[in-house]
Amino acid sequence: MPANLIEFTDIGLYVPEAKVYLDPWRAVDKAIITHGHSDHARYGHKWYMTHKQNVAILKHRLGVDINVSSVEFGEVFTINGVKFSLHPAGHVLGSSQVRVEHKGRVWVFSGDYKVANDGISGAFEPVKCHAFITESTFGMPVFNWKPQNEIFDDINRWWNKNKEDGKVSLISAYSLGKAQRVIANVDSSIGPIFTHGAVEPINEIYRAEGVKLPPTTKATAEHNKKDFAGALVVAPGSAFNTPWANKFKPLSTGVASGWMNLRGAKRWQAADRGFVLSDHADWTGLIGAIKGTGCESVYVTHGYTSVFSKWLREQGYDAHEVHTLYGDENEALEVIEASPEKT
Ligand SMILES: [Zn+2]
Ligand SMILES: [Zn+2]
Repeated sequence: MPANLIEFTDIGLYVPEAKVYLDPWRAVDKAIITHGHSDHARYGHKWYMTHKQNVAILKHRLGVDINVSSVEFGEVFTINGVKFSLHPAGHVLGSSQVRVEHKGRVWVFSGDYKVANDGISGAFEPVKCHAFITESTFGMPVFNWKPQNEIFDDINRWWNKNKEDGKVSLISAYSLGKAQRVIANVDSSIGPIFTHGAVEPINEIYRAEGVKLPPTTKATAEHNKKDFAGALVVAPGSAFNTPWANKFKPLSTGVASGWMNLRGAKRWQAADRGFVLSDHADWTGLIGAIKGTGCESVYVTHGYTSVFSKWLREQGYDAHEVHTLYGDENEALEVIEASPEKT
């Protein structure tokens, strides 16, 4: 039995033959980064390698002076004889899976992914491999997503109703990815779209990368009540119940998150409406993705790791739970974020 092509260390996922880490949580010399969320893209690496469309996001979040190289999807780059390539993960703009090949063995690290195509994050690509390292944020059978057009019909109806009632619609969506997905898919003929200061710079990055978004305006102190009439305001959950949000009153609040699938969870009750919209794969999506790789071994990094790896073993997979520091951003914190956003 040869050693693992990717090892699970205290610093992060490690490819020893290449001396390269994948989404490490401590500073290293060489890091391949799957996407821009802060649990995967951290400060302090001497060299970053990522997908072309993730470069501006990394610079925005980590500083313009980081040393970053980039590739297109499917473009092979070799480090110490180990072949690497990035493949669409469908999670947020520029998100990728990392394919690692050495001496005939192929491992794939999924990062975070969703298999449904949201139209702006790239379509998830199944990559054949011997071992697949997967997330399992929503690795429980209870999590099943509806097609996104149905969810956006609900959001549009809610927005329209609020407009008729003379209320502003304030929707919580994580500033990188979810916010742009919401903005790209709502019916922008209903009214103007305003954003929080954490969201607008990411919109600009998406537009610069060729993603079509309707016009959005950063809500500032200069705007008055009249400007917000009939508006949809897109903000991270951390902006809820703050003086910033109070200026939109009277308002109706909504949350767009996979966690809205869990009815009655106490922390979500602060919002008037919940929309089950996730940038992660649901139960069926996870299973389909794993089958699509044709792999024998599965390593489960975050989410319902124990339930999900046990289920996989029952299906005959060589499946393992591994400990990582992923999962402390995006979905889990979409509603109440631990720290206030920068900018
Ligand atoms: Zn993520
Ligand atoms: Zn993550």
